[in-house]
Amino acid sequence: MSDIAKASGVVVSYRTSRGALRALDGADLAVRAGETLAVVGESGSGKSTLGMAMGRVLPAEAEHEAGRIEVDGTDVFAAGAETLRALRRDKLGFVFQNPMTALDPTMRVGRQVARAMPGRPGDGEIAAQLTRAELPDPARVMRAYPHELSGGMAQRVVIAIAIARSPRLLIADEPTASLDASIREKVMATLRRLRDESGASLLVLSHDLRLMARHADRVAVMYGGRVVEIGPSAQVLEHPAHPYTRALLAAASGSEQPGERLEPIAGTPPTLMGRCEACSFAPRCAFSRDKCSKVRPEPRKVAGREVICHFAEEVLESSKEAPQ
Ligand code: ATP
Ligand code: MG
Repeated sequence: MSDIAKASGVVVSYRTSRGALRALDGADLAVRAGETLAVVGESGSGKSTLGMAMGRVLPAEAEHEAGRIEVDGTDVFAAGAETLRALRRDKLGFVFQNPMTALDPTMRVGRQVARAMPGRPGDGEIAAQLTRAELPDPARVMRAYPHELSGGMAQRVVIAIAIARSPRLLIADEPTASLDASIREKVMATLRRLRDESGASLLVLSHDLRLMARHADRVAVMYGGRVVEIGPSAQVLEHPAHPYTRALLAAASGSEQPGERLEPIAGTPPTLMGRCEACSFAPRCAFSRDKCSKVRPEPRKVAGREVICHFAEEVLESSKEAPQ
């Protein structure tokens, strides 16, 4: 299957008062045409940075140091301003965690949706666009200001805007995290239905392992600014081959409430102050050996996925013996 987007060896640092913070430390990720790919990982693992890097919508303090990202044939870090603008407008759609910050509070919803659509849409077309995102009573929603909508409805407006030009890749960063647990499932289902209908790809960045297990075709697990395991959801989540994936799943299975944020796992996340010359998970890893704190692991194919772990085969074996 062809890739709609591909990140290879991407390094992005943020300038901070304490020095350069390496949020992406050689991240690799290919998004296939037509798939739903979930990126999971604990807070600070680099999910949002990778999502923003895909459209080169990083904040000013971020610096792209190395690696390449190609989206639908465009090298985003080499592209000129006009090419980038066209890429963002026509090929990418973004949905972020908080719909209220994405919408203009001073403008009626209908106008905001109309601005995102090609040409000069009439009311009927604007209403149809809202209906695509499963908003009830589109005539009323069009006239409303964002603060008059519930969080779930506002997020549906953001989705209607994001898909207005039929993007090839929809990037949704924690699209359901600000919503009530009862509507998370429904909003995810809408995103997935839109993806199914349009043939676009959906890249969803999330803490919510269980929600992603139900909706994603493949799962990518991030740790310390790298994708440490990626593969079909069922395989990765049933028989993880990376110790960090295992730890995440163990933590998630201990929580009672579906949809809640990941339980922290034992140990401290990496400091991200410079390139990690070993395995960044080694200090927290139950499988760690001498080699892990000396040699930086590179991606390898193991049992249908790609894993960054020197001992992935061993981890996979124990996942099969004692599934999470
Ligand atoms: P979360 O789950 O909390 O959203 P994340 O996986 O999306 O986390 P990022 O937001 O990409 O992670 O952050 C990666 C690292 O970069 C973190 O250590 C974070 O503190 C740091 N970081 C993110 N944005 C900035 C910024 N604008 N300036 C400085 N550091 C930043
Ligand atoms: Mg984030």
